[in-house]
Amino acid sequence: MQTIDSFNFADKKAFIRVDFNVPLDENFNITDDTRIRAAIPTLKKILKDGGSVIIGSHLGRPTGPTNKYSLKHILPRVSELLDVDVQFANDCIGEEAESKAAALRPGEALLLENLRFYAEEEGKPRLPEGASEEETTAAKKAVKESQKEFTKKLASYADVYVNDAFGTAHRAHASTALIADYFDADHKLFGYLMQNEINAVEKVMSETERPFTAIMGGSKVSTKIELIKNLLNKVDNLILAGGMTYTFVKADGGKIGNSIVENDKLDLAKEIVELAKQKGINLVLATDAKLADSFSNDAKIDFGSVKEIPDGWEGLDIGPESEKIFTEVIKNSKTILWNGPVGVFEFDNFDKGSRAVADAIVEATQKGAFSLIGGGDSVACINKFGLADDVSYVSTGGGALLEMIEGKSLPGIKAIRGY
Ligand code: AMP
Repeated sequence: MQTIDSFNFADKKAFIRVDFNVPLDENFNITDDTRIRAAIPTLKKILKDGGSVIIGSHLGRPTGPTNKYSLKHILPRVSELLDVDVQFANDCIGEEAESKAAALRPGEALLLENLRFYAEEEGKPRLPEGASEEETTAAKKAVKESQKEFTKKLASYADVYVNDAFGTAHRAHASTALIADYFDADHKLFGYLMQNEINAVEKVMSETERPFTAIMGGSKVSTKIELIKNLLNKVDNLILAGGMTYTFVKADGGKIGNSIVENDKLDLAKEIVELAKQKGINLVLATDAKLADSFSNDAKIDFGSVKEIPDGWEGLDIGPESEKIFTEVIKNSKTILWNGPVGVFEFDNFDKGSRAVADAIVEATQKGAFSLIGGGDSVACINKFGLADDVSYVSTGGGALLEMIEGKSLPGIKAIRGY
């Protein structure tokens, strides 16, 4: 299989799918350009080889063409970061895009308008509210049909397809997966970002050095069931923390006060505990908590056992004893996966537990462990503590990363390497 390094792009046109879905303020200023910066090395490599690029992305969740989600707002920043005057096509398919793509010379770049201005990108019909079942079925069929033409059109611009949009790798969309069918095996490849993400997950999930510890935090167990179940087949230590702690504690007969709980998941919590026992996995739960008398940074604070929380109080962070237990396990690990803060890290008064976890991960990494941080809030958390550069890898993909850890095959990856 070709890689971004092995492929010589000289005189080739590359269609590159990136994830430029960046946050914009009301004046269309980019408030965080991380996602654009993440794709720059791949774009630069292609241009440096003497190739040209046609860049495709989505922005937001438009239901049709709209200025609000136009990629033209980010064009100046892309040009600046790439150090090339990037051209723009006001429509991702059609005459303008076609002629501009055809006219690209080596070293030139063209950014296409938001791919999701077309329902064909996602292959989901955009129906008026109250559409009948019949209309829905017909519209679904129609968009699947027109999706083929749309995909073929995008593919027709280029000689080679590059996917560097890890954030959408779990979607079987036109530009993230279906388009790959129009290129032969030697002319489709991953960009650097995508390759790095895949390598990091594989290092954790299949080339695992033991002991392997996963720390799962966040608010709810319900959103992490598949993740936890798959990890039970892989890890040596599973630290379950954050808000989900209290569903486990309640299932075990503890008194949790006003702490967050999912009452319909008590049996599931028991099942997870039983499964861990059967598999001989060290399941680690918090023993004590930092308590608050309201869900607020300025709440009154107390400490106590997770099993004896008085009414009117809730656990918003782990306590000192749990901190010790967690960090001891983490520091002795060789592979670490962290998804989800162990407390309400957004409140400065309740971020100490997550900070201790982050510090322990950094220490283990310094001693040679491989640490992967990913999936939404744990990335925000490691960034808050300024430690992103001190762990092995911080993933850019929320849903895509989690699906990989769940053991699923991602359409965007399979389309290129076949599995
Ligand atoms: P998730 O998206 O499921 O990973 O949840 C992340 C959120 O969980 C963060 O916003 C945290 O503030 C929240 N969280 C962590 N610990 C707790 C807790 N003990 N009680 C309530 N929310 C929590």
